[in-house]
Amino acid sequence: MNTVIPIEVAQKISSVTPSASLNIRQERGQREVFCGLTGIIWLHRKIQDAFFLVVGSRTCAHLVQSAAGVMIFAEPRFGTAIIDDRDLAGLADANEELDRVVNQLLKRRKDIKTLFLVGSCPSEVIKLDLSRAAQRLNAQFNPAVKVLNYSGSGIETTFTQGEDACLASLVESLPLQPQDSTTDLKKLLIVGTLADVVEDQMQRIFKDMGLNQVEFFPPRNSKNLPVIDHNTVFLLAQPFLADTAKRLEDRGAQRLPAPFPLGVQGTRAWFTAAGEAFGVSESVREQALRAPQQRAQIAISKHRSLLEGKTIFFFPDSQLEIPLARFLSNELGMNLSEVGVPYIHRQHLAQELELLPPNTLIMEGQHVEQQIDRCQSMNPDLVVCGLGLANPLEAKGLTTKWSIELVFTPIQGFDQAGDLAELFSRPLVRKQKIAA
Ligand code: SF4
Repeated sequence: MNTVIPIEVAQKISSVTPSASLNIRQERGQREVFCGLTGIIWLHRKIQDAFFLVVGSRTCAHLVQSAAGVMIFAEPRFGTAIIDDRDLAGLADANEELDRVVNQLLKRRKDIKTLFLVGSCPSEVIKLDLSRAAQRLNAQFNPAVKVLNYSGSGIETTFTQGEDACLASLVESLPLQPQDSTTDLKKLLIVGTLADVVEDQMQRIFKDMGLNQVEFFPPRNSKNLPVIDHNTVFLLAQPFLADTAKRLEDRGAQRLPAPFPLGVQGTRAWFTAAGEAFGVSESVREQALRAPQQRAQIAISKHRSLLEGKTIFFFPDSQLEIPLARFLSNELGMNLSEVGVPYIHRQHLAQELELLPPNTLIMEGQHVEQQIDRCQSMNPDLVVCGLGLANPLEAKGLTTKWSIELVFTPIQGFDQAGDLAELFSRPLVRKQKIAA
């Protein structure tokens, strides 16, 4: 999907002031990333009573279907309402068509408790006011089903921004809490979609630290939405949740600054930030973290001999690039040729940027042709990129890793650190076998 970088993203990029110790550069031009519809693939697995109805064209339907190809055993909890060519005079028809599809769906599927109308970029869809459509349908289906809307359009969102837009709409839908609440009991909220297995492992460590009231957002079930107020303290589990964090902060919640829970270093610092904020003593924290940390170090060490000293180049895609680069450099000894990232949220990534080796070349935004030229001239051992670039780069003799796998695979936390390292060693092992 080739699109030109949107104005608001470009503005965000230009407002960033590069720190003196980091080599942050920016470029603009043609970019090669998935749109935010892709997030439906992992979001629908997480919120098990939600349905994602893409309001879009046949192209959108194909994207979601092919991205979901790996998920053929999943319950169908996403679909597309195809809005064909319509001019402005046909808008009433488009709204009628949308209402008809939603009525048909909700009549048939009583298990759906939250319905997301997901906007896309075809002009017929842009003309439709999906927030009004959601209000109209809410009035019809309330309280059995909550209808929300967000945009997954390639004009407004890249790849993982779809999750941000979805979660922001979910925060917006939560009832406002009175500000004069008398209780001062702080509660911890983990924000960002994580695989259930990862959540369970994290929950065990929090319990070992004496934190028994930790909630995860989004929840597995729409009935378990958290209460957000000035007693909410949240830790981001994903680095691409700028709008969601802003909406939480608007409701009085407070973000704990921390690196992201990737690899031993990031995971340890992430848990430590929570422990310190809730007054957990150092000895209790150490006790809780020691065994999982040791397991992770052993699992990672198996991949170090292969990855150490190898060079890696990131094309901008998932926004996970900076924490991944930090992990690969600090824990596996890889050399960072270039770390491409769609854009940097300066505050959310502050701790991550500090942990990168000095003078790491970070490229915000994208000019894909120039980046391909740089990549070829640097000739890295491994390239992390989107599906669209992988085959052409492999054809030029480079070894690639699909960035989409890093979003689909459970990689957060101590017990996944070895699997995360393996995601990068596997393509190199494959290359060695082919060459042998
Ligand atoms: Fe393509 Fe836009 Fe549909 Fe995404 S939302 S699949 S970029 S048409």
